[in-house]
Amino acid sequence: MLQVRNELTSATKLVGRVVPNAPQSPAADTPEYAYQYDDIGNRITSTDLGTNRTYTANSLNQYTLVGRAVPGAPQGEVEEFVPQFDDDGNQTLIQTSTGIWQVQYNGENRPVLWTGGTQSAATNIVMSFDRMGRRVRYLDVYTSITNCNLSFTYDKYICILRFCYIRDNSCSNYLALAWDPTEPFITQPIVSELDNSIHRFCLFDGNKNISTIADESAIVFENVRYSPFGKVVANDEESRTTPFGFSSEYLDTGLGIVYYNFRHYIPELGRWMQRDPMHFGSLANKYSFVGNMVLSVVDELGLDIDAQRKMCDAARSAIPNDVYIKKMLKYLKKHDCKFSVKCVCCNPDDVKKGNLGSYSPADSWGQKGDVRICINAGERNESEYSLTMVHEVIHVLDYCRLRTNKPTCNQTACTEIRAYSNDGGCNPNGSNWIPADKSKYDCVRRQAFKSCKNMGGCLNLNDDEKLRDIIRYEYEIRKCFERVDLR
Ligand SMILES: [Zn+2]
Repeated sequence: MLQVRNELTSATKLVGRVVPNAPQSPAADTPEYAYQYDDIGNRITSTDLGTNRTYTANSLNQYTLVGRAVPGAPQGEVEEFVPQFDDDGNQTLIQTSTGIWQVQYNGENRPVLWTGGTQSAATNIVMSFDRMGRRVRYLDVYTSITNCNLSFTYDKYICILRFCYIRDNSCSNYLALAWDPTEPFITQPIVSELDNSIHRFCLFDGNKNISTIADESAIVFENVRYSPFGKVVANDEESRTTPFGFSSEYLDTGLGIVYYNFRHYIPELGRWMQRDPMHFGSLANKYSFVGNMVLSVVDELGLDIDAQRKMCDAARSAIPNDVYIKKMLKYLKKHDCKFSVKCVCCNPDDVKKGNLGSYSPADSWGQKGDVRICINAGERNESEYSLTMVHEVIHVLDYCRLRTNKPTCNQTACTEIRAYSNDGGCNPNGSNWIPADKSKYDCVRRQAFKSCKNMGGCLNLNDDEKLRDIIRYEYEIRKCFERVDLR
């Protein structure tokens, strides 16, 4: 279940095997997982298969105290953990499924030295990273020389080979991985090969987590289940042959963290150890990921979004150059109709259909509404964004003239007709402000119909014919395609 800020608030496992230690046959309305957040996305409480935790965050959105109700202890007894951070916002003291780790970062905020864990006080893990920020080595030093050391080889940011060697040279092995070539974004390993002999095939659940591992004869070796935030909660076999798991990312089994190329993730906390290296957008909580819009946004390298943001900013600043837009903005100012322009990530399906923006009026009249420009629209030129802005500003203007946030279906139809008649949707020369003529009639009517179906006063009108009538009336009789005379 997700609420308005795209935060997971509860989850119940619907399919799969019985999870050990899970409450047996939970009542249908009792989720096995539940989460509460403050207004900026920090957890306040969590329930994770019967373990209750409370969280305190500081003004930098870092958890400063994590309390865990001690299982079996008298009520109220709480075990507390105090996470620590360095000045760059990197978490330096973490608690994972394998214990408490002290972490040191290098100048590029990569975690290079890990000390602690539960095995012994002397456990030290050293990591090194290449110039592209990819982790190329994982060395278990100072402990037994029979421990495995790992080196990684990548194709861009996809790990294709892991070489494992033991320091006394008694043994070495390699693990080669083939990734699904049909999926450009949803990267998932489909086959692994261990030492030219053992092959394992991966199957996935709907969240691209590796859920089943089988061999050539389709004999299942492992069934893995995860908590909503990536903790392994059920695993049929102890020694996993594929280190990839949650989200098809690499699990550092010794550390209990998941390595994503640019950040390391703590499933226990549902949190990154580091801030977003891109300082994503204008979002205040840097410990989130693509603005929490994980269901709709792909941020492959953290670069695309930024380029698109620049595009959006350019479109935003290009607007006032048009004479008529200037007039509209002046009118809005004079009538105290405020709006802000936000660059956001939109539903990719909408973007594919060419909807690059939207206008959401405030809840009550007099407050600021938002014009939202989609920044995940791929390669678009500036004029496309400008015409999107034209479309949305027309909505702001019409709402302002009506002095309403809740227009009737007729009013909604009218403003959509005006917007589509004057933007790039049905009038590729939109910026020239050619009043829509009859030849554009079909296009405007079709587009307005689609928009009206999803919004405003037409939302509750379940009669398509009636909606078409309204649009026809607003177009032909009330001539809503015309620009408003703002003299
Ligand atoms: Zn519209």
